[in-house]
Amino acid sequence: MLRVYSDFNCPFCFVQHSRIMQLGLENDVDWRFIEHAPNLNSSTNNYQAMQTLDMECSLILQRAPDISINKPEFCVNTRLATLSFISIQISHPHIAYAYSSKLYEAYWQQGKDISDTIVLRGILSHFDINDLDFHDHAEELQNRWQQQWRCGGFDERIPAMSSSENRLLLGLQHVDNIRNFCSNSPEVNLDFGAACSLQEKSHLAILSGTQAISEKIINPSFFDLHFFIGLNDLIKGMANNRPDLIIIDFELDKSKNFQTIELLKKIPSSSLKDVPIIYYFNQTCKHPDLAVPYTLGAIDSFSWNDDFSLTHAKLKRRAIDSRKLLQLSQHSTIDSLTGTYNRREFNLLFEKLWRISCRKKLPLSIVMVDIDYFKQYNDHYGHLSGDECLIKVAHLLKNNAQRTSDIVSRFGGEEFVVLLFDIEADIAEEVVQRMEADLETTNIAHTNRDFPHRVTASFGIFSLFPHPDTSPHQALEFADKAMYRAKKQGRNLIYCERSAPITYKSAE
Ligand code: GH3
Ligand code: MG
Ligand code: MG
Repeated sequence: MLRVYSDFNCPFCFVQHSRIMQLGLENDVDWRFIEHAPNLNSSTNNYQAMQTLDMECSLILQRAPDISINKPEFCVNTRLATLSFISIQISHPHIAYAYSSKLYEAYWQQGKDISDTIVLRGILSHFDINDLDFHDHAEELQNRWQQQWRCGGFDERIPAMSSSENRLLLGLQHVDNIRNFCSNSPEVNLDFGAACSLQEKSHLAILSGTQAISEKIINPSFFDLHFFIGLNDLIKGMANNRPDLIIIDFELDKSKNFQTIELLKKIPSSSLKDVPIIYYFNQTCKHPDLAVPYTLGAIDSFSWNDDFSLTHAKLKRRAIDSRKLLQLSQHSTIDSLTGTYNRREFNLLFEKLWRISCRKKLPLSIVMVDIDYFKQYNDHYGHLSGDECLIKVAHLLKNNAQRTSDIVSRFGGEEFVVLLFDIEADIAEEVVQRMEADLETTNIAHTNRDFPHRVTASFGIFSLFPHPDTSPHQALEFADKAMYRAKKQGRNLIYCERSAPITYKSAE
């Protein structure tokens, strides 16, 4: 059996999919749809994404002039399309390939938004399927495919084909190569130029007194460079855009007693703290301190006098590995639907913030959020729309808790918990009021409830000065109780536990 890893929003995969049909091999192939750019959302029509789309479409015109493509006017997130494919593959396996063809045609030929559930329902109606039901295991299977692709030695390329003997065919190859590969013929003359690598550019954050380093490492096809002259600027500038590598000027850091690594690792819950660090130095620098960064946790170093191609290859390799590691670790820390921390990671971060708050005698606010009448929402609009609603709510919670120490986590089903470190009740209440106002503005229709006809949530806040004599678990229970008070008092409310049942403040 042959396995093909593809994404619905990749034109090379669309051509590969069509080629396999031309060769009459569709039933010999095990299709595994993945997301090569999972962060893309339907509204990602930024200049860079559209430029890439332009480039890809013109390549297709050269390589596969026989296959018609209309360049879509938007980039599309393929998570829902993939989940629907998996569900169809489980429930109606005989039409799965035809369904995937229709999805490709809808996006690449008819310009339809296949992240829209109405469009997906429309495609399914061609097969006399009237409802879009996600199979219970669809998400799990999607995650497994995603992981297999990432760890399968495909160098993050799609389309990627593997045979049961572990032979690989990467990228979009000439139709003769596909035929020969599938028939196990040794005559596969790989045309490397035809293989597409769909990696995003690697992001390098560079802490340097000068931009001179750019001449040594810049290659616009692989790197996006972000220069900073101070660590605080870097932390601020990259807070929502985690770089793949942080590159530090040895001389600059030496003059600060090599504090940078330590400071970076200290920021609670920062996405920067696990980014691999590389130092660069001037080759004339023979200082014995050159070994110090390694002892502090740097993973590599290079001299700006090193050979250009060596430095480039080194940084490229390190950046790719960094991203792979992040993706693997995210599987265990991030909730795959909402992109917020999962419960397990929340527990670890909570314990940590709790300890810091105890030690530094700082306040901590815990906010429990539970969507109101969400069961009715699911029943009325379907599970898929329910998922979209959860994504929107998670998004607005994150947008209003943006400090590096703020933590937003999916606590369970339709419940979220937000931790606001070093924030007392008054400010926490303001933050939560902004969340509530945002939810009102987002105005997610929920006509199946008495009033208001939109999705609302109940918020419970518990603020305290953590104390070693008590547990985070107990504090969480108080926040939960506050949220239930909001529910009891009619929902769509914020209940703030102001006079904490245990006033740790006075105990200090
Ligand atoms: P209340 O106002 O009292 O909170 O009522 P509710 O309906 O929101 O609460 P309930 O606990 O009865 O229902 C929660 C619903 O959340 C039930 C479950 O189907 C749904 N749910 C849980 N996890 C998910 C998910 O991942 N996706 C979707 N779509 N629904 C989910
Ligand atoms: Mg609930
Ligand atoms: Mg609820």
